[in-house]
Amino acid sequence: MAVNTVASTTDTTSATSADAPAGSVSLGPAAALSCRECGERSPLGPDFACGVCFGPLEVAYELPTGDAEGLRRRIEAGPASIWRYAPLLPVPEDVAAKPNTNPGFTKLVRADNLARELGVTGELHVKDDSGNPTHSFKDRVVAIAVEAARAFGFTTLSCSSTGNLAGAVGAAAARAGLRSCVFIPHDLEQGKVVMAAVYGGELVGIEGTYDDVNRFCSELIGDPAGEGWGFVNVNLRPYYAEGSKTLAYEICEQLGWRLPDQLVIPIASGSQLTKIDKGLRELIALGLVEDRPYKIFGAQAAGCSPVSQAFKGGHDVVRPVRPDTIAKSLAIGNPADGPYVLDIARRTGGAVEDVTDEQVVDAIKLLARTEGIFAETAGGVTVGVTRKLIESGRLDPALTTVVLNTGDGLKTLDAVAPSSGPTAVIRPTLDAFRDAGLG
Ligand SMILES: *Cc1c(COP(=O)(O)O)cnc(C)c1O
Repeated sequence: MAVNTVASTTDTTSATSADAPAGSVSLGPAAALSCRECGERSPLGPDFACGVCFGPLEVAYELPTGDAEGLRRRIEAGPASIWRYAPLLPVPEDVAAKPNTNPGFTKLVRADNLARELGVTGELHVKDDSGNPTHSFKDRVVAIAVEAARAFGFTTLSCSSTGNLAGAVGAAAARAGLRSCVFIPHDLEQGKVVMAAVYGGELVGIEGTYDDVNRFCSELIGDPAGEGWGFVNVNLRPYYAEGSKTLAYEICEQLGWRLPDQLVIPIASGSQLTKIDKGLRELIALGLVEDRPYKIFGAQAAGCSPVSQAFKGGHDVVRPVRPDTIAKSLAIGNPADGPYVLDIARRTGGAVEDVTDEQVVDAIKLLARTEGIFAETAGGVTVGVTRKLIESGRLDPALTTVVLNTGDGLKTLDAVAPSSGPTAVIRPTLDAFRDAGLG
């Protein structure tokens, strides 16, 4: 069943300026916050839970409908960053003029070598988000959250992070001239810890899992110690999450304003996957791409696969797990958007699958050896899951497929270091070279 229509939560009706509350902020086409469960609308503000049913809030828009060709031309004439899509994002109109990290417009790599290796006869592309300013997709979501933080008058930027988010927040706060204080599980990879600390903000390691870190941050928001703090993925989450839509926009624009048939997307909280779907539906509703079905596939590591387990078990409820995997950026045991991910995978005819840590390492090396792209463990998860889905016949090898690489392998060197060393270490003589069997 392909119900690629824009949900009521993104409809074009909105409060008029006449009934907007005094002191309300202006964030471009963003019209209100809307509950993803009951649809109740509330004014734009640093809120994340519905006042009526406690459901999660998302941004609802007044989007520029009517002139698809004009909008397409405006986007194409925009900057080579996510700000080319400012007319579709909750950001002020002059956003490109403000100090921000300006992420996005990363490469969409046509992966013919990988396709051959995987038996793909259609088009295979890798959307390589390691090219962002702090080398992960998180720069997209943080850039939007920074604009919301500014609009709401927050002076400190914060987050609970599995690693990449902490670095993205540190860098964006530095650029924006805001203070930052970020929280991570204490046992992350060195590459992630250093990246989170180097931008000069405060970095706090919490003795616990990501889910413990997240719980702690929720408490801090309600405490005087956290007053004036914008937590990008908690009280700014509705705005933050919208940043992932830009992946959908870019992929379609880079394919020549065309929807891919199949997308393979990693899942941590599941936010990215749900917002890529939202972005694709918006492009269809705006007439920027043709309305036809696409399938969304979610990818997890077996050591933290609560959404994949629920999908395979036919459940609607995602049962939390305690993560144990090298794919630490995806290690969220209690994913907030899990049930929405299940809906999208089922509605579009996709699936959610997982791979072992060993398969993750193999997939990182496969992508590096075939396409010259060094992915972090999350990229190993998507490539590994792509291979598994093809082998089991669930992903059609004849169609156009986009696989996401959301981070840089330099941040997770530990995963491949034990199996990626020099072929030989020799004295600097030709004899030694030949003796090593290389000449
Ligand atoms: C955060 C992250 C994701 C996905 O996160 P969601 O919480 O599902 O939006 C994917 N890949 C990497 C490398 C990440 O850091």
